[in-house]
Amino acid sequence: MTVVRDSAGRYFASFVIETGPQETLPGSPTEIGVDLGLTHFAVLSDGTKIDSPRFLRRAEKRLKKAQRDLSRKKKGSANRAKARLKIARAHARVADARREFHHELSTRLIRENQAVAVEDLAVKGLARTRLAKSVHDAGWSAFVAMLEYKAARYGRAFVRIGRFEPTSQVCSTCGVKDGPKPLDVREWTCGACGSTHDRDVNAAVNVALAAGLAVSARGAQVRPAPVPAPRDEAGTHPKLTPTAAA
Ligand SMILES: [Zn+2]
Repeated sequence: MTVVRDSAGRYFASFVIETGPQETLPGSPTEIGVDLGLTHFAVLSDGTKIDSPRFLRRAEKRLKKAQRDLSRKKKGSANRAKARLKIARAHARVADARREFHHELSTRLIRENQAVAVEDLAVKGLARTRLAKSVHDAGWSAFVAMLEYKAARYGRAFVRIGRFEPTSQVCSTCGVKDGPKPLDVREWTCGACGSTHDRDVNAAVNVALAAGLAVSARGAQVRPAPVPAPRDEAGTHPKLTPTAAA
């Protein structure tokens, strides 16, 4: 067993166990495309929009407050040292909350769908811009990695498509490239076929189509948001799960 103490003063014990044969899930008739974005964490080709949960946003708020408090403390003072430890703890809580959210969502998507497709991250293009920080914070690559290993574990198909075509510019109904759309354009009507698209849902449908998945044309229409996955679905809790590094 390895015991690790992190910068927030928390102890983790890690060890290796042997597990049984591959777990299986009952087959699912649905296949889904996922668009990872900045206005929502993820938008699905069936119209579902997923935002980061309140417990993660709360943890982020606490971290910001701790950072503000630190700047007001006198350099070299005991209070400053205390404030710094508080920041480390708040950082750790944000990381834990984000990981929990990623686990819940990735488990749900793999459980509910026979095939999941994501774009080979737009992050590459965005990472060099001023959006870099929010992209980083969104933790897309960690999330996509979870999708991939869970798909392998449960016998689902996972497809990563390259950015050969800008998914937000192409009409998912007729395939015509409708031209660049600034980020503030949330909805648009195709000049060629007259379909009206939600920007992100259209992108998610294009991801699914590019991956060769079966998505109905109805996917382009906006549907009501689904009930969030139950908290216990992922079966992991940060308090019980050591970090991957540990
Ligand atoms: Zn069209």
